[in-house]
Amino acid sequence: MTSCALVCGAGCGERIPWLSTSPRTTCARCGELLDVKQDLTAVAAERAATWHTRFEARLRVGVGADASGVWSKREWVLPGLAEESIVTLGEGRTPLVPAPRLGAILGVPDLWIKQCGQSLTGSFKDLGMTVLVSAVVALRRAGAPIRAVLCASTGDTSAALAAYAAAADLPAIVLLPNAKITTAQLLQPLAHGALVLALQTDFDGCMSVVRELVERSPLASQLYLANSMNPLRIEGQKTAALEICEQLSWTAPDWIALPGGNLGNTAATSAGLEIAEASGLIARHTRLLVGQASAADPLARAAESGFEKFEAREAGATAASAIRIGNPVSVRRAIRALQRCGGTAESVTEDELGRAAAEADRTGLYVCPQTAVALAAVGKAARRGVVGAKDRVVVLATAHGLKFSEFKAAYHEGRLAGAASRRANAPIEVTATVDAAQSAIARYLEASDTRRLSIPSPLSNSL
Ligand SMILES: *Cc1c(COP(=O)(O)O)cnc(C)c1O
Repeated sequence: MTSCALVCGAGCGERIPWLSTSPRTTCARCGELLDVKQDLTAVAAERAATWHTRFEARLRVGVGADASGVWSKREWVLPGLAEESIVTLGEGRTPLVPAPRLGAILGVPDLWIKQCGQSLTGSFKDLGMTVLVSAVVALRRAGAPIRAVLCASTGDTSAALAAYAAAADLPAIVLLPNAKITTAQLLQPLAHGALVLALQTDFDGCMSVVRELVERSPLASQLYLANSMNPLRIEGQKTAALEICEQLSWTAPDWIALPGGNLGNTAATSAGLEIAEASGLIARHTRLLVGQASAADPLARAAESGFEKFEAREAGATAASAIRIGNPVSVRRAIRALQRCGGTAESVTEDELGRAAAEADRTGLYVCPQTAVALAAVGKAARRGVVGAKDRVVVLATAHGLKFSEFKAAYHEGRLAGAASRRANAPIEVTATVDAAQSAIARYLEASDTRRLSIPSPLSNSL
């Protein structure tokens, strides 16, 4: 039987059960964040073939917990959670799409995109929130005095929290940096009935208010922290890495690249790979590449010193608003993860992310600016020879491009700050006559004919 406990991330020896009437996310002894520690010997004790058969059988189930990409791996995701506490909205099970044409542009033809944004609230945050909200249901049943769930957010966390809290009929409170998130991201928690507080600060400012609220305010014991400091979210988010390996017939890619903000997802991806390795389902070692926007790149700067020193910085404006974070709460978890796998981090300019998004969209994707940061990071790492031209690279697409219409509009209208919109496309106004339409079409076709027809078979990245 698999099991897990909360342990101190700094290794001071603190170890507590996750199911408790006074839940905590930080170590009472030394203040470091707690991590969920799986009993990997129990995972390793079962034969890899047994895990394989079990997971494969669940892929055929259409509804309920087994149909969730997260809960179909429930022996590895918060084991000990009673099934009747599960709050699922059909998260996970997102497509893994071959992207050879974009890969050729970036210098890594064996490129794949894990479409985590194809999800209820349009981002991978759903993977973590199903676990966190399910745990809150279990904690309340066990007698914990939780009255509401609370988070600071760059937009997607609050959308996911509000949705899952609404499904569980739990009050949700979100703190957002005023005017620094997209319209879609603001509308989502409002529509789900959350209390939305817009603060005149940035994400890091919202985060410190949230920390005070859950640590020192009179409401502290009644508010449950839903930021990725809370390791329960990482439990759910690690299933994206498991699904990638599963979709590649249980082989591990050479690289998984992802955008990093608060860096919880970097830790989560590493945790997913770690448990898959322990089970014997994958053998090869995957390295992580974290992309950051140059306006908010403290991890990429630390990479230059081999992670010897890390300095938080004030995050500047970037189109990748969901990773506009200068003081990431999971930085130590992320550095441990990168050191474990020999991974690294790359900084990407606004021009590079704008261009990567436009190129991706022109190959049939519709990427969010954060995913564009990861793509541009892959291109840079390939040019520097860090990522090899034959390496299999999976980019974790973290959100749906439709949540970031302001970004797409700015690029195509040639007003994205810091970016030259070389691939901008604009509507052509024509008079309402067949002649006018016909000549516009003829011009378009002529321009298209000069393009080389380069459509690789969608399966040319064969397994
Ligand atoms: C939250 C988020 C990220 C960053 O994830 P972290 O765990 O904070 O590093 C990246 N992209 C999108 C779209 C996000 O919502």
